[in-house]
Amino acid sequence: MSTGLFDLAGRTAVVTGCNTGLGRAMALGLAQAGADIVGINRSGSADLGSEVAALGRRYVDLRADLSERGGEQALIDAAAATSGRIDILVNNAGIIRRRAAIDFSESDWDDVMELNLSAVFRLSQAAARRFVAQGRGGKIVNVASMLSFQGGVRVPSYTASKSGVLGLTRALANEWAPLGINVNAIAPGYMDTNNTAELRADAQRNDAILARIPAGRWGSPADLAGAIVFLASDAASYVHGHTLAVDGGWLAR
Ligand code: NAD
Repeated sequence: MSTGLFDLAGRTAVVTGCNTGLGRAMALGLAQAGADIVGINRSGSADLGSEVAALGRRYVDLRADLSERGGEQALIDAAAATSGRIDILVNNAGIIRRRAAIDFSESDWDDVMELNLSAVFRLSQAAARRFVAQGRGGKIVNVASMLSFQGGVRVPSYTASKSGVLGLTRALANEWAPLGINVNAIAPGYMDTNNTAELRADAQRNDAILARIPAGRWGSPADLAGAIVFLASDAASYVHGHTLAVDGGWLAR
């Protein structure tokens, strides 16, 4: 197999929430494969720009609160204006709220659903419109979760949103595959980021989680680099509507 299939040189990837955690690692993985990166972040992305530049690629920093409605098309158009095109959208930004379902507040429900699911739809729609206008197809990769497959505990809005991401990925793939747009998702397992700090700090939960990961360790953000490059590249051109688990075997257990 030619590694050219995975070559992203000349492509522009938009990555949401890439100033930290999994988004940052995926942005670096894409840059390593040759893509220029446009980050959409609520706040600064520290040294990501210089790390992308060190790989010989361009990093453009756009700012937005993605839970606010209405600015999506302008954001995607601004991203495209930086190089004249966009080729890849990675819907990574996401939040979690942990509380017993019986005590869950309306905002813990709404805030999570808005960013993790509704914003994913709005940005995907804006990107698809752009891809159609450009006439070259495109790649959308959503970030799902183990809780796209299972219920979890004390995270009702997160589970609902990430189960929705899996369904939305399939629904959009069905409509957009004929347009040359691949819509897929990555479902990270238990990864070592801010998002899971509370779990890792709880010795009992930490041990229980580790006990059911066949790989015997938490995932590191860099573990996602191979999957994101694959789904963003020509190697995945006949892959549509799939959610790829990168989980150390957790789902297989
Ligand atoms: P993180 O908290 O380190 O990163 C989340 C990112 O989303 C940050 O860049 C943050 O600034 C951004 N963000 C939050 N609210 C935003 C808003 N309103 N507008 C724009 N950006 C916003 O967490 P992470 O673990 O890197 O999570 C990244 C994605 O991976 C999320 O969708 C998360 O649900 C998913 N995920 C994480 C794990 C894990 O184990 N860490 C597992 C499965 C899925």
